[in-house]
Amino acid sequence: MQANYYWVQLDQLSPSDPSEGLSEGPTDGRGRSDSLAGGAAGTPRLLCTRRAKLKKLGQRVMVGDRVLVTEPDWVGGRGAIAAVLPRRNCLERPPIANVDQVIVVFALKEPDLDSLQLTRFLVLIEHSGLALRVVLSKSDLAGAAERQGWCDRLRQWGYPCHCLSSQTGEGVLALLSELQGRTSVLAGPSGVGKSSLINALIPAADLRVGAVSGKLARGRHTTRHVELLQLPQGGLLADTPGFNQPDLTCFPAELATCFPEIRQRLQRETCQFTDCLHDEEPDCGVRGDWERYAHYRVLLAEAIAYQNQISQQATPDARLKLRMGQAGQPHYEPRLAQKRYRRPSRRTQQQALEALYQDLDS
Ligand code: GDP
Ligand code: ZN
Repeated sequence: MQANYYWVQLDQLSPSDPSEGLSEGPTDGRGRSDSLAGGAAGTPRLLCTRRAKLKKLGQRVMVGDRVLVTEPDWVGGRGAIAAVLPRRNCLERPPIANVDQVIVVFALKEPDLDSLQLTRFLVLIEHSGLALRVVLSKSDLAGAAERQGWCDRLRQWGYPCHCLSSQTGEGVLALLSELQGRTSVLAGPSGVGKSSLINALIPAADLRVGAVSGKLARGRHTTRHVELLQLPQGGLLADTPGFNQPDLTCFPAELATCFPEIRQRLQRETCQFTDCLHDEEPDCGVRGDWERYAHYRVLLAEAIAYQNQISQQATPDARLKLRMGQAGQPHYEPRLAQKRYRRPSRRTQQQALEALYQDLDS
């Protein structure tokens, strides 16, 4: 969608010209924001166009972008975006720039917490290179021992977690303080209480809650815009479509880096082969009786299948580049779509997050 108007939330009340602000995303040009809920945080918003120069350069303005605004018309509430400041990162699906952290939400009950499914989400986000936090929702449905059991397990995996209930309000304020001043994205399967959590954090958001499924869910998700919601004490929260089984787009050699347990092990131990996949190789320092090793192997098989699929499709065209593996065997890797984001972690970040937010809810 190529909209011509953007809501820009300004940083200060009386900024000097040009002023800096945060793009809240395209509007339909009739002055209604498609991407803001929860009310402004006390500073003015301007309805802005893109300067012709940006249009010529093909410079896109995304939700979450920091922009420079010129020619502010305070009375009319209008302005023009003269520049987009460099992005720290940028997700394609949902399209949001400058994300600080992903909050992985899983329910303790209804639905039961599935450790492989949770691991799949954790791996995807680890693969993206973004910071993550784990929230266990619906704490009112689980007994103290059960909650403690999950928290202990997750700590063993390498993830401190936080239990909360949108229904009783327990733990919601504590999460709010972690979100303050940051741009956060919620991720998790549908039905775990993400909408309820957003409503508990931002009463003005008033999102629809309910276990929607099938056609209705798909329709709802595909027609919704990205929403960057303002938290009452500052900070932004992105609402995302629900999905249950995101595909892994990770290469086998990258998978080990997505498990804190393996990272930790490799600091103490070594494997016989430098390109060890920690599967059945002799003298592997990673293989062992740690809890998620079985999950690692399930995901490793998927990563191998993914790599095979990429190699089969692979022709030495613009999308893929040929790389020589450690043992001299060639393999193809996708090229980065956008050169300007090329950094060691960016390719994987882009891919993983695109996969993460594809609407696979069915
Ligand atoms: P989403 O699909 O992740 O956005 O989940 P929803 O927010 O739509 O919630 C799914 C279902 O779980 C709804 O029936 C909610 O009423 C229920 N629910 C959400 N949060 C809680 C909670 O903290 N406790 C309990 N008991 N139920 C909850
Ligand atoms: Zn190994």
